[in-house]
Amino acid sequence: MKVLKFGGTSVKNAENILKVKEILVNQYNGKGDYAVVVSAMSGVTDELIQMSKLASKGDIAYQVNLEKLKDRHFETAKSLLNKSDLKKIENELSLFHETLGNVLKGVFLVMEASNRSLDYILSFGERNSAFIIAAAFKQRGLKAKYLDARSIIVTDKKFGNAKVDFKTTDKKIQGYFKENKGIVPIITGFIAADKGGLTTTLGRGGSDYTAAIIAGALKADQLDIWTDVDGLLTSNPKLVKKAFTVPYLSYKEAMELSHFGAKVIYPPTIQPALQKHIPIKILNTFNPTFEGTRIGNESKQQSDKPITGLSSFSGVVLLTLQGPGLVGIPGIAARLFKALAEKEINIILISQGSSEYSICFAVKEGEQYKAKQAIKSEFEKEIKEKNVAEVLIEPQMSIVAIVSEKMKNHPGVAGKLFSTLGREGINVVAIAQGSSELNISFVIDTKDEEKALNLIHDSFFLSEYVDVNVFMIGVGLIGGTLINQINSHSDSLKSTHKINIKLIGLANTKNMLITQDGISTTAWKETLNESIEVSDLNSFVSQMIDIDLPNSVFIDNTANSEIPKLYNQILSNNISIVTPNKIATSSKYENYLKLKSTAAKKKVSFLYETNVGAGLPVISTIENLVLSGDRITKLEAVLSGSVSYIFNTFSAKRKFSDVVFEAKNMGLTEPDPREDLSGEDVRRKITILAREAGYKVEMNDVKLKGILNKACLNAKSVADFMTELAAMDNHFEKLAGKANEENGKLRFIATMENGKCSIGLKTVDSESPFFNLGGSDNMLVITTERYNIRPLVIKGPGAGADVTAAGVFAEIVSIGNKYRG
Ligand code: ASP
Ligand code: MG
Repeated sequence: MKVLKFGGTSVKNAENILKVKEILVNQYNGKGDYAVVVSAMSGVTDELIQMSKLASKGDIAYQVNLEKLKDRHFETAKSLLNKSDLKKIENELSLFHETLGNVLKGVFLVMEASNRSLDYILSFGERNSAFIIAAAFKQRGLKAKYLDARSIIVTDKKFGNAKVDFKTTDKKIQGYFKENKGIVPIITGFIAADKGGLTTTLGRGGSDYTAAIIAGALKADQLDIWTDVDGLLTSNPKLVKKAFTVPYLSYKEAMELSHFGAKVIYPPTIQPALQKHIPIKILNTFNPTFEGTRIGNESKQQSDKPITGLSSFSGVVLLTLQGPGLVGIPGIAARLFKALAEKEINIILISQGSSEYSICFAVKEGEQYKAKQAIKSEFEKEIKEKNVAEVLIEPQMSIVAIVSEKMKNHPGVAGKLFSTLGREGINVVAIAQGSSELNISFVIDTKDEEKALNLIHDSFFLSEYVDVNVFMIGVGLIGGTLINQINSHSDSLKSTHKINIKLIGLANTKNMLITQDGISTTAWKETLNESIEVSDLNSFVSQMIDIDLPNSVFIDNTANSEIPKLYNQILSNNISIVTPNKIATSSKYENYLKLKSTAAKKKVSFLYETNVGAGLPVISTIENLVLSGDRITKLEAVLSGSVSYIFNTFSAKRKFSDVVFEAKNMGLTEPDPREDLSGEDVRRKITILAREAGYKVEMNDVKLKGILNKACLNAKSVADFMTELAAMDNHFEKLAGKANEENGKLRFIATMENGKCSIGLKTVDSESPFFNLGGSDNMLVITTERYNIRPLVIKGPGAGADVTAAGVFAEIVSIGNKYRG
């Protein structure tokens, strides 16, 4: 025996009712051993409530609505039934509406609708739908028979939310089914009757419960709830786009989740099923072959995820009672909650620290004043004596809950949860976890609700991926290459690393663009060119902060000196930064430290590996050495690819100016080679490296011994400079000749020794690691307490869009890995 329930949307109109019939035929073999419970057609219960309200206010307009409702029922019947069958039920259908009209008239006249009349009025919703559906199915060959649940479900007299008398009810249900073997009853959900036959209802959404009561009485094999969604989802899909159907959950988890805003199943439904171990399925009438959600005993749990579902609701107010008068005094909580109970205020969440200094609890928006008043009068004396403070009210809060049976034997769930929220700057105001460990609930500001849900969903449902939201300024050579790299690796990143890099914002010097849905990594150029938004640095950054996406990363691919001024603000807003721009890290030491400490405080990343040696792992290596307790005593480095090339190629046999000219033509130098040869860029880089090694160094502390004379440096144009440089050829020839005599080579080396930095031309012998440096490679030689006899050497291409972009890319991925947890 199976019990099936079809909700309001499933029986909304003739078309959907025929879908239900198809389901009975296809999924249940049409003649199977089953009972069908139906809701009122969608919206009807609400309309009936509305009519009662109008009538009770003496507003005759209820009659218009009643006519509409009658039309809707008749139209549905007409399109489902042939003439002769319609004739057979017309009288009864008219009678239903006539009776309903009479009751409403009564309400209209006395201008009062009691809960008792309301239940009677509401019963017409389910009675009409079940009645019409039974006739329609019968005509189509099913042995369907209308069954008014008031004859089988007996309750107390609590109208609006009646309690079932299971003893009597079970007997009645069993009796009915014994006598009516072989037929398919089409049963009214939601409604019941008290012992004396007065109509009652089981609470809004109660049709699910009707089905469970019947399933329980008959010890059914299965309870199938057919609705208009694909089962119970991991989270609310309106807020979490990546929410997906939970394939299996335990009765207890289902109870927690359904209590908590996931309105797919009416919470009391689960109890009768749990007691008799009847499996529940939640299925979609509009996607009938989808497997939906199964609810059953926990032992069958299949998922490998630490949490099963995530729920939330807004419209919560947090109240706090605090003061010394609470500490160590028994009975305070009892008094507090009794005072609230007397005013029928429902408490959604309670939390008290073990210092007992304060108790905080959450109520529904709107009840806070009543609550405050109740507490005020209960604790009047204590408040007067200042032993208890005035109640603190914090409105516009949301409660978020994560639910799972598995948290019991899964340490670290709470740790991960709260560190994830902390990293994104979401403040948790109160926390409650029951000792059943089935549910961790916490209170946050409603403005953070959506972000929090998405973050938690991303970090706990690992089968899905985590989004890294990228905002990029500068889309020239490096930026463009980076986007291409993201584009060609995005699939594998998603499938193997579960990281989805989303390009949310882009800006060049002309245009900018921020779109929450993401910018195509193939058509980005056109999209940016077509953007009507004129580039504006401050507006870009403030928009980025305002849309407040989780896991945001800001990328500065420029050499601009204005952007770094905003870094601290960006980091303060929990946005990570990745940049090849050296301005910030080589600015005042104080500023450098500040950025690092802001990043640490906000638990975001500030990454700039490409500041020195492009993609070569120089900064991360120094960082790891320092972290592991080593002390860096000396750094020696060739940190400019172009200058490296020039000296690696230059020898006594060639003119120095020719080599510079050649390097310039190969595109290795800046358009004005003096920018490289002056050593200023190297000055920045050695400053940064010294700082990473733990020394307080300012740019000006670096002793730079230049290789160009004044005439070269002051030359007005690049051409003039080249002429002046040719005049220095003799000088360089002499230097090279001298080096040769000593069996050495000339290298332009930056050195840091115990915090003292210098840069200059040096002759190195064949013992030196720099002796064999070739091409335009960079090289860093690190001497530490541990690496002291043979230093650590890092060598390789230290410039170029490809390797720089790859370095930035690697850092974005490392942030993704961190966020994925
Ligand atoms: N018709 C009732 C309601 O709307 C019961 C149900 O649909 O489950 O609350
Ligand atoms: Mg419903």
